[in-house]
Amino acid sequence: MGIYRDTWFQNNKSDHGWYTCAKCGKKIRKADVDIDHIIPQKHKGSDSLWNLQCLCKHCNRSKQARIGLKETGTDLLKANGKRAVKAIVTGTAEILRRKKK
Ligand SMILES: [Zn+2]
Repeated sequence: MGIYRDTWFQNNKSDHGWYTCAKCGKKIRKADVDIDHIIPQKHKGSDSLWNLQCLCKHCNRSKQARIGLKETGTDLLKANGKRAVKAIVTGTAEILRRKKK
């Protein structure tokens, strides 16, 4: 359980103790919330709020197998709305910067 989990919960209020899965829309309790890195950590995804989304355990498990650019873009858009474009630019720049090292 990382700091990023706290970051997400600090910025996303529950609906009377319930959270909504970003994928399937299911209502879930805090204990069942998986805070997912939209750009996965193994791809140097950031721990920042813009790269985090709330998933139920089922959706988080099924995400592992299929990580594509298209889906990542869609997820970023959903998590960030208008801020997504900036997030994608920042995120991409971050990945490129780290790859150069
Ligand atoms: Zn779900």
